[in-house]
Amino acid sequence: MIYPWLQQDWLQLAGYIDQQRIPQALLISARSGMGALDMSKFFAASLLCHSPGQDSQPCGHCRGCTLYQAKTHPDYIFIEPEQAGKAIGIAVIRQLIDSLALKPQFSGRRVVLINGADALNNAAANAFLKCLEEPAERTSIILLAEQPAKLPATIRSRCQMLTVAQAKTEDALAWLSSQNVTDALPLLEIAQGSPLLALKYGKENTLQCWHEYHDNWLKVAHGKADIVILAEQWSKQEQVSLSVLLSWLSQWTADLIKLANNPDYVVSYKMGLQELLKKLDLKQVFQFYDMLLRSVKLQDSQLNKQLLLEQILIDWSTLNKA
Ligand SMILES: [Zn+2]
Repeated sequence: MIYPWLQQDWLQLAGYIDQQRIPQALLISARSGMGALDMSKFFAASLLCHSPGQDSQPCGHCRGCTLYQAKTHPDYIFIEPEQAGKAIGIAVIRQLIDSLALKPQFSGRRVVLINGADALNNAAANAFLKCLEEPAERTSIILLAEQPAKLPATIRSRCQMLTVAQAKTEDALAWLSSQNVTDALPLLEIAQGSPLLALKYGKENTLQCWHEYHDNWLKVAHGKADIVILAEQWSKQEQVSLSVLLSWLSQWTADLIKLANNPDYVVSYKMGLQELLKKLDLKQVFQFYDMLLRSVKLQDSQLNKQLLLEQILIDWSTLNKA
């Protein structure tokens, strides 16, 4: 199924089928929680369908569709990291290369979908390049990545690109309301505009958690929290992963900067931020923001969560003392 905010993107994909200009390699970049994986699977199903219907949607009852739905289509290969945050290693790609050396089993198209393509490690990415340099017969490769910049340029340059844009707020809110989500607007805000993430947050009662974190973040700024204890609590909290926490911290800092540049900037937790802005040196806030973004990139290799959080909180506290 195609979510309302993905209609334009779907039209582009459907257009490839309509016009019989199906790319050998397609790189779809989208933030998590946008529903791009569902859309990519739907596209894969359409490519495997023998007679796609209106808007190139899979017919749902041909042999290709039946096998795809039963997850037994011999010409469909799906790859993703074994675990979130883990890399895709070379063994999986070697296996893929071996499979692609054979002809597709049916007369139609073969489809490879790699979810989390930005998780290919260096060796795997280098090996994978071969699949693009020497395209296999009647085969389309779809790569889905949150951070396509992590992929080598040699891979990116060989793919057609589709970048999924941020969902329009009204589309996202209408959809969330159709899913019976209350507090849709603040949930969408903390999910940074990703509707499926907002839905998940709603189910997991993340909003309350978010408020606690935000309050503590402000307490640190006002010198009213014990940084070591807080860093320890945050690093042990299971409901909020390090990557989510770093994204929240980055968002609060980005909001500070936006608010400094535009006092009319709308954000529901504006009051606390406005107060901080009175004494903050914006240049230092920018430096702090850069440091947070670097931490986001380094988090996979960061072994000591607590130490990282402690350093961030110390920097944040020092910034507010200046
Ligand atoms: Zn079909």
